[in-house]
Amino acid sequence: MTASQPAAAVPTAVPAPQVFAGVDIGGTTTQVVLCSAELTVLDGVEVPTPAAEGGAAMVRTALDALGLLVARSPTRPHAVGVGAAGLVDARAGRVLVASDSFRSWAGFEVTATMEAALGVPVFLDNDVNAFLLGEAATGAVAGEPHVLGMTLGTGVGGALWLDGALYEGPHGAAGETGHIPGFGDLPCTCGGRGHLETLASGRSIGARYRERTGLDRTAHAVAEAAGRGDPDALAVYGAAGTAVARAILITAGLLDVTTFVIGGGVSRAWALLEPPILAALAAEPPVSGHPLRVVPSRLGGAAVAIGAASRARTESRPAPAPRTPRASPTS
Ligand SMILES: [Zn+2]
Repeated sequence: MTASQPAAAVPTAVPAPQVFAGVDIGGTTTQVVLCSAELTVLDGVEVPTPAAEGGAAMVRTALDALGLLVARSPTRPHAVGVGAAGLVDARAGRVLVASDSFRSWAGFEVTATMEAALGVPVFLDNDVNAFLLGEAATGAVAGEPHVLGMTLGTGVGGALWLDGALYEGPHGAAGETGHIPGFGDLPCTCGGRGHLETLASGRSIGARYRERTGLDRTAHAVAEAAGRGDPDALAVYGAAGTAVARAILITAGLLDVTTFVIGGGVSRAWALLEPPILAALAAEPPVSGHPLRVVPSRLGGAAVAIGAASRARTESRPAPAPRTPRASPTS
């Protein structure tokens, strides 16, 4: 649309600063941000995700939103990162497994489709990994070498940051604390029983409250009820916090990780979650003797998009020079 307009007179001597785009394709909304090389958000937009219309429609929506930002930015993005719900093959840039709420998303070639449209490199990550990339790059755990990230959203996701890098494991499932057993006997969305997700996800908080009261409430409404002193709502959030602490203690015992960042919609009720988490950690301190630090997300709803931009920035950096000094002259 801007192609036919005359180019504005701009000074040509100053090189344009690098800009990176981050895209968060979630089940209900798609968020796109443009970030500076320091990961400061320069501009952003949020649009509904057409999850029922299939992968092509979802990616087209993301590209349209990005196009809107690029049209009002003086600089085109150098590279684009995408954080997407579901299990993804980051290397192949493809979605492997997606939940029922997405149509023809599993198997979709996300990066190839976007690179063909944009002409710049595109990188794909699972949304929880992108969340942790964002918080570790510029958020609540910036500079920390070892972190477990947990997202308490519709489900419970997890990701691991070890020695200053994402550790995905051989099957991309490292850090998935939401689906480890030992948290009671309730049926989980994954088909298992007694997983952390049955107590600490937004959906579960609503379900546990309904079991106690017969009332249908969102996790947010249950949090509001807890704020008014509703004992059932307080008990549900207390159980969620205690369960999160248990997952933290398991991780600390297994990996000696002592820093934890909690995001997702449920974590906005931090005033309700933090006391039971801290009480459980105080009751059973880790064997390392080192105190555990548990913090809420600092980037909030933008964490996934900023984390995706962070991945794009990392991938765009020139490869480090070879360690062998003074390679033999080639001339
Ligand atoms: Zn499960």
